[in-house]
Amino acid sequence: MDHNILKTLEKGDFILGEKVFELEQKLAEYVGVKECITCASGTDALQIPLMANNIGPGDVVFTTNFSFFATAEVISLVGAKPIFVDVDNDTFNIDYQLLEQKIISILKEKKYIPKAIIAVDLFGQLANYDKIEEIAKKFNLILIEDAAQSFGASYKGKKSCSFGDVAATSFYPAKPLGCYGDGGAIFTNNSKLAQKMRSIRVHGEGKDKYDNIRVGLNSRLDTIQSVVLIEKMKIFDEEIKLRNKVADYYNENLDQFVKIPKIAYKNISSWAQYSILVNQKDRDKLIKHLQKFDIPIAVFYKKPFNTLDLYFENRDLDFSISLMLSQSILSLPMHPYLVKRDLDKIIKAIKDFYE
Ligand SMILES: *Cc1c(COP(=O)(O)O)cnc(C)c1O
Repeated sequence: MDHNILKTLEKGDFILGEKVFELEQKLAEYVGVKECITCASGTDALQIPLMANNIGPGDVVFTTNFSFFATAEVISLVGAKPIFVDVDNDTFNIDYQLLEQKIISILKEKKYIPKAIIAVDLFGQLANYDKIEEIAKKFNLILIEDAAQSFGASYKGKKSCSFGDVAATSFYPAKPLGCYGDGGAIFTNNSKLAQKMRSIRVHGEGKDKYDNIRVGLNSRLDTIQSVVLIEKMKIFDEEIKLRNKVADYYNENLDQFVKIPKIAYKNISSWAQYSILVNQKDRDKLIKHLQKFDIPIAVFYKKPFNTLDLYFENRDLDFSISLMLSQSILSLPMHPYLVKRDLDKIIKAIKDFYE
């Protein structure tokens, strides 16, 4: 990899160089879709499809109430209104029954135009696309898969980033496939949409850079990041296997103490996070206890979207599952190279806490 980074430095094609297009081809092949458009971040990878579908003021986009802020942020950024939906108790992904109910109630209200759904594959597990794709079709909505956390995951062998009309992933270093900075990619089988998104990524270019035919962004991927990603893709499947082994080991040893994560039938998670549920009254004490042993702990997410001041009009709606999760969830260390010794230390610390 160092050699190829040096070659990029010598060649000087720092942005959208040859290696970027090589990476796009490799990513599209890996996922099993026709088109891959890399861009500057996972956030942009979500925003660009919204722009390409002309989603804006007066439109609503349905999404989960429990995710990283970028999921909701891009909807607000293009001027549309996010409609939040509570999540499933087991997978923490959008509850498809509540989704359908919300769509129907927005249609009845006739105040806004339902345009799209952004489903998130939280912590690396795919959302329930059997149902969500059916709902999107039924109500003629564009379905966007927020696969920022799930690259490498699959359902019945079908890979993350191949669901819905268009999918977005992130190469932020902490994601399953991380680069050495910011980066993202968009996937679709719709070539016309892909062409538009390629234009948006470079200031809405037309025939060339100075023929600007629409308002776009500056959202290109650095060539050096592509070199890193091409190299990391070679070991990526192995890393997903290792992450699954780490999760299995946690599961076997923690099941009797805490609520372990549930993976739905025929799903393989990419385990961006390994998140457990504990008693709400114990959580802060357990976090302090684990920090004493230098075990890094994170809480994803402390504030479901409806509790943010930004979205105050949702404050009093019923989001009981996401609220419960925000108060009892906690994520343990998770990466492919966690060795048994590290895992045993974490498991022992949790056992000691409960015994
Ligand atoms: C990380 C993340 C994003 C944004 O990706 P960036 O590359 O950080 O911009 C979007 N959605 C979810 C669910 C994420 O976890």
